[in-house]
Amino acid sequence: MNNPTLEFTGLTKGYNHGKPNEVKVLTGANASINSGEVVALVAPSGAGKSTLLHIIGLLDTPDAGTLKIAGQDMAGQGDAKRTLMRRTTLGFVYQFHHLLPEFTAAENVILPQRAMGVSASAARTRAVELLGTVGLEHRADHRPGELSGGEQQRVAFCRALANNPRLLLADEPTGNLDPETSDQVFDVLIGLVRDTGLSALIATHNLDLAARMDRTLRLQNGHLVET
Ligand code: ADP
Repeated sequence: MNNPTLEFTGLTKGYNHGKPNEVKVLTGANASINSGEVVALVAPSGAGKSTLLHIIGLLDTPDAGTLKIAGQDMAGQGDAKRTLMRRTTLGFVYQFHHLLPEFTAAENVILPQRAMGVSASAARTRAVELLGTVGLEHRADHRPGELSGGEQQRVAFCRALANNPRLLLADEPTGNLDPETSDQVFDVLIGLVRDTGLSALIATHNLDLAARMDRTLRLQNGHLVET
């Protein structure tokens, strides 16, 4: 049965509307991602990848169009509902890990769970378990500064999955790593996504990485084309 985790139609977004320097970034983007599907988002720099990911990630709003996440219509939802969706239903991974440097790996994975009211001991148990799935149980009590780039990014994956999201949004998640580490860390990410059965939209410039996902969507001229 078709059961989209993410569904959007006719998304448009521009900047500086009505001014001479108006930029139309999205001109009617449509896509649907089913439960458990892993989809690559490929776009040249400046095509509007970040704009689209920010809209889907509820960090920005479109000028027009519909957006449904986990079956819930996001149109007209207030800040409280959008924040709750971001914390519970969406997971984010960026090109840079953005871990909090003064906290350990485990604490970075514990914090989003505590924000949702999970007890300290249950959050610690889940954090250590998640770190174990990416081969980092022995680094649980180390701070990000003591970890390699690949290890930092693996901790960031665990943090993104801490609250059991339905949809993972990733923006060039291995873009900062050397090619060999990038390959290994990408395998870890795909393994995690497959094991947990969540859906993912992963932006990448790397067509080899894109080919390892279920589908590729290319952002061109403001809309998405299946390739
Ligand atoms: P990508 O992530 O694919 O590199 P972006 O979504 O960041 O692309 O940007 C798409 C286009 O929109 C670019 O031409 C960029 O200059 C423009 N843009 C992005 N944000 C703004 C903004 N706040 N104001 C004006 N133009 C913007």
